Amino acid sequence: MYPDTLLFIDGKGVQAADGRNIPVLNPATEEVIGHVAHAGRTDLEAAAQAAQKGFAIWRKVSAFDRSKIMRKAADLLRERADEIARVMTMEQGKPLAQSKMEVMAAPDIIDWLAEEARRTYGRIIPARAGNVHQHVLREPVGPVAGFSPWNFPINQATRKIGAALAAGCSIILKAPEETPAAPAKLVQAFADAGVPAGVINLVYGVPHEISEFLIPHPVIQKISFTGSTAIGKKLAGLAGEHMKRATMELGGHAPVIVFDDADLDATVAGTSGAKFRNAGQVCVSPTRFMVQEATYDRFVEKFVAAAKQVKVGNGLDAETAMGPLANSRRIPALESLIQDAVKHGAKVLTGGNRIGNRGYFFEPTVLVDVPKTARVMNEEPFGPVALISKFSDKQEAFTEANRLPYGLAAYVFTRSMDRANSAIADIESGMVSVNHFGLGLPEVPFGGIKDSGYGSEGGSEAIEPYLNTKYATLMSL
Ligand code: NAD
Repeated sequence: MYPDTLLFIDGKGVQAADGRNIPVLNPATEEVIGHVAHAGRTDLEAAAQAAQKGFAIWRKVSAFDRSKIMRKAADLLRERADEIARVMTMEQGKPLAQSKMEVMAAPDIIDWLAEEARRTYGRIIPARAGNVHQHVLREPVGPVAGFSPWNFPINQATRKIGAALAAGCSIILKAPEETPAAPAKLVQAFADAGVPAGVINLVYGVPHEISEFLIPHPVIQKISFTGSTAIGKKLAGLAGEHMKRATMELGGHAPVIVFDDADLDATVAGTSGAKFRNAGQVCVSPTRFMVQEATYDRFVEKFVAAAKQVKVGNGLDAETAMGPLANSRRIPALESLIQDAVKHGAKVLTGGNRIGNRGYFFEPTVLVDVPKTARVMNEEPFGPVALISKFSDKQEAFTEANRLPYGLAAYVFTRSMDRANSAIADIESGMVSVNHFGLGLPEVPFGGIKDSGYGSEGGSEAIEPYLNTKYATLMSL
């Protein structure tokens, strides 16, 4: 049912050179369901050599032909979506329907990137002399090291592989050790579609050993990391030391501003659905709710009722709306944030605890009266925790929205164009969504500012970080 996962180097699935592997757990049962090969330096060096060889081949394939192969991979993923979704739920915990949606979104991302790369136009700059021709060319940066996390095992890997391949780069992906099989199936789909050996390489192991080996490696020209701000800063520092380009998609602490003219029922339904999706382990998860005074009591009452109705269980059960947290680290992380908030005077209106003692299940949690000094008001909870507070005027809400160093996603609910426009203008965030959750589509930019990172992993901006600009000037004799 659940496959063991190998490394994928130079077009072949291989065990680690020293035979090491580590167990993979099902977070709903804590059972060992399989193993994943664990790369050491020999494997990483082999991956680097393969990526260099793969780049030499792939950069010469036209964007038109790259696109055809990528679209074939997308079709294979669509065909295999049921099987991949099941594997993902077993290793990550999210409900099967959410896994299926994630898998089915990947081919759309691949199609978009494949087509967009066909439009990586250069330009001709008018020269000062008639016999001079000035060209601007766009070229792939070279082999990429990508680091993708466990919350969206397919989506985050797809964005990195898709953009790299579309631009003509090769890639070594360090996919998450906790959720290895779904990304391995993604890579297999590319291989089956005809991506040449060495163009995509897949490794797992000790994260810091891999990044410390690959980022300084002379073959690697670009880094793309998705994960926490703390690790992102370390990797960005290492990338800077070695003059490697980097895209950093890091943590968030998304503000949600609900004005008193919002459609209350739709806002509660939308925000609670988004909050508890993937058990809150989403970088753009709505977290700091600010509700205008006149609506506050009704909003809280309805939101708590919605939280209580969320059916928590094994993601393989059809009626489950929220699965377990993805790994054991999340339980103490959430418990300590909630205990600290309560110590600072917060009230727990529902939830706050682990459910049972087998499987990493956690209650959908709503906290109110949380002082700004509590850790949870400053650190990303990355779990099913909503923090609700009250505001009176919009400036107060915008000031609170901008208080933290994060700047990834922000949400605003209002019928007023004036309020919506001032929110868009005044909130410091890479993405602002008004009256709905409209983020993450392949064709729109996806990325943060401030401590949430830099670079975009969506829209036409997604290709840009994988391209160099070359200027060529030619004087005809
Ligand atoms: P973590 O910070 O140790 O790891 C986050 C991710 O980075 C993991 O995928 C991990 O494999 C990888 N990683 C860790 N150290 C690394 C290193 N030195 N080199 C390369 N990769 C490295 O924490 P965690 O316990 O896995 O996750 C907890 C926190 O991570 C969450 O609170 C959240 O803030 C953040 N996170 C964010 C995202 C996101 O989508 N932005 C995804 C997963 C985790």
